[in-house]
Amino acid sequence: MTAPLDHAITRFAPSPNGPLHLGHAYAAVIAHDRAIDAGGRFLLRIEDIDGARSRSDLAEEFRADLTWLGLEFEEVPAQSTRIASYREAAANLRAMGLLYPCRCTRADVAAAATLQGPDGPIYPGTCLRNPPMNAADPVWRLDVEQASELAGPLEWHDERHGPLRARPEQLGDVVLWRRDAPASYHLAATVDDAADGVSVVTRGADLFPATHIHRLLQVLLGLPEPRWHHHGLLVGPDGRKLAKRRNAPALADRRRAGENGHVLANALRAARPDATLFDTGISLSETLNPIT
Ligand code: GLU
Repeated sequence: MTAPLDHAITRFAPSPNGPLHLGHAYAAVIAHDRAIDAGGRFLLRIEDIDGARSRSDLAEEFRADLTWLGLEFEEVPAQSTRIASYREAAANLRAMGLLYPCRCTRADVAAAATLQGPDGPIYPGTCLRNPPMNAADPVWRLDVEQASELAGPLEWHDERHGPLRARPEQLGDVVLWRRDAPASYHLAATVDDAADGVSVVTRGADLFPATHIHRLLQVLLGLPEPRWHHHGLLVGPDGRKLAKRRNAPALADRRRAGENGHVLANALRAARPDATLFDTGISLSETLNPIT
């Protein structure tokens, strides 16, 4: 089947808190090919919003890794340079009465939560019901119930799974703003995808649940609706997704060892969700569990 000539704009948006590994290469190849096969543009956006965990030396490595894989990209500004736009978005949501301060610690949330969402315990709304007396340095949470009422029923479209009903309540009152980060991934990625003109958001199936929140944020902030393409994840011999902390080999090491990156990219292209093992026992798996 030939790809639609829809001039898709996609992006690869790595966080520079560790070197890229094969799973990132797979995500980058998918994003690149989805855009370029459709006469579009492939963007690189460094998601260095988390100042404490981001390493300034890694962006250059990421560029070299993409070039080594044979993926030409256009780079858009890194998230650390865009804080003002996240602040403005948060201020808009706050002016709409949709954010509330919260002082609960992770342990408080874990102890009080009775429901588990796809990303962990669902915040039980403690600080919504009992606003903290001392709200110095709070985090700000989205009041998902109120926000959903305001937005009305929403759908989003995944290229592999068709139309899906947005169910942001599955993630509960997510944190959108904190002092240290400062914007959350949800807010920053949503604002940036719109600002960068991304028309097809390609990313791993592990981020599927996040899209329910992103769709809601787009409507609240008056941002355009992209399409999504959530792809399967590469998993290691243990059946778990590849992760730096579980010793997935760094692309940079393979690059420095003289491996041919174009050959690797083509091997990734040939891989299918049910492909048998290739590359030291690594396989593709579908961890997608679409919620309709
Ligand atoms: N920065 C995110 C990550 O490295 C990717 C976010 C996205 O693709 O939406 O996991």
